[in-house]
Amino acid sequence: MKELLYEGKAKKVFCTEEPEELLLEYKDDATAFNGKKKEAFRGKGELNNKISSKIFTLLEEKGTPTHFLKELSDTEQLVTRTSIIPLEVVVRNKAAGSLVRRIGIEDGMSLHPPLIELFYKNDDLDDPLINDRHALLLADVTHKELMAIKEEALKVNDVLLEIFEDCDLSLVDFKLEFGRTEGGNLLLSDEVSPDTCRLRDKQTGAKMDKDVFREGTGELVPVYENILQRLEGATCAK
Ligand code: 5GP
Repeated sequence: MKELLYEGKAKKVFCTEEPEELLLEYKDDATAFNGKKKEAFRGKGELNNKISSKIFTLLEEKGTPTHFLKELSDTEQLVTRTSIIPLEVVVRNKAAGSLVRRIGIEDGMSLHPPLIELFYKNDDLDDPLINDRHALLLADVTHKELMAIKEEALKVNDVLLEIFEDCDLSLVDFKLEFGRTEGGNLLLSDEVSPDTCRLRDKQTGAKMDKDVFREGTGELVPVYENILQRLEGATCAK
């Protein structure tokens, strides 16, 4: 019997026999608006496990230290244990979502250089936007760690832009989470998947991510299947 350590909206986290390793199980649940909209889609957990495993492997190859160790089954992966820093680090290449609602710029406007935003991971507060000083106050990070996190987030953006370009997808924005190992090393943690990225088909502009569920404009599973197929066929993944 696996010991459940934590259950989140999209994943369960279990202890393993190795104290430094955890098992992540991807669930079929999709949530939006801080859990206010919720639905299960058979196969979603498997798709996000496979997509995120592939992307973390590519990120590791390009020099980003991540928590990912290996895929264990269709819905499970082994990761290095970290304590998650309660920050959502959002990188934006084009204006969308909460940025457009908050500051009223045109949806789709290109952002050069990319914009980095920090949100405080706190369900009770609906993950508010915060600045660096708030992060130092609330998230138990040092100034040096915060600078390293932002620098790494921009490097991840460069690699993801390349990966998704290969898939004929435009990367609008995405959210990252970082964790700290027992020894104090920062590792990219959580997941990178269509749950955490906004992706658009380069030819048609079609939304290819969780926005289809958030906005109720399409079928989630076929869209995620399409992303996995494109990643498997991408030249960078060969
Ligand atoms: P926005 O701030 O526009 O809502 O989101 C920006 C980007 O971060 C989007 O790609 C979105 O999917 C991702 N994101 C922001 N907050 C969350 C969250 O709490 N959960 C997930 N899965 N993604 C998030």
